Formats: sequence, structure tokens, C-alpha cells
Amino acid sequence: MIRYSLACAHDHEFEGWFDSSDGFEAQVAKHLVECPACGSTAVRRAPMAPAVVTAERRSATAARMAAAMGEMAAKVRAHVEETHDYVGRDFPDEARAIHTGKAEDRPIWGEASHDEAKALADEGIAVAPLPAAPASSEPKKLN
Ligand SMILES: [Zn+2]
Repeated sequence: MIRYSLACAHDHEFEGWFDSSDGFEAQVAKHLVECPACGSTAVRRAPMAPAVVTAERRSATAARMAAAMGEMAAKVRAHVEETHDYVGRDFPDEARAIHTGKAEDRPIWGEASHDEAKALADEGIAVAPLPAAPASSEPKKLN
């Protein structure tokens, strides 16, 4: 007996057991092999091996994309850490002070809760979330 992975015209996948590959073709030719989902007898062998290769390729691509995005996030973060003043938890106050002209106008970064960031945005202050640092690196304090 041979087990075949099969697919109907609607791409329903199912399995069938046949005594031989000739037996399979003869049964299909006589419309004896039915899709259990829709009853279609337009049945073909599903391309099992290529499907496995495709799945592996897709996960490899996803892993590469995740790595590339992590690298990009690290670059963005490194750039901000180099060029912006770190103000820590004072970020919301400092951002407001800069916005109202009470503090020197300069790019800053620091810590803000989701609500604080939203409040700043509502006040017309441009705030952008910084990609998370890699778990191994602590924020570099510039002051
Ligand atoms: Zn079907």
C-alpha cells in the first residue's frame, strides 16, 4: 500500500491509500477518489516535498527579516543615544520645557509612560517611541 497526499480542485488536502501508483491513477480516472470535504473527484497528488521546502524557506526568510529589523532598531537607538540628550524620567517635563521655550531647544530622549507620551502628543509635542534596546545593553547616559 502507498499513502498519497492528495488535493482536490478546491485545494482541500487529504490522504488516500492505494495498492500502487497505477491503482491510484486508475481510481482517479474512474472518479472513485472523492475529496472528503467537498466530494470533488478532480483529485491530484499534492506536491508534498516542495511544500515542506517552501515552509522552511519562509521561516528562514522570517528569521532574516527579524534579524534585519533588530539590527535596524539597534542602529536607530544608537543614533538617538549619540545625538540626543538623555533626560531619563524628566522626559515629559523637559519636552514641555523645550516646547514652551523654557529650556534649550535640543533633541532629547528619555523615559515616558504610554499615557505621558500620549499627553505630549496631544499637546502638539513630537514624541516618537524608541525601539527597545537589546536585552544586554543598558541605556548609555550622556550627562
Ligand atoms: Zn475538496
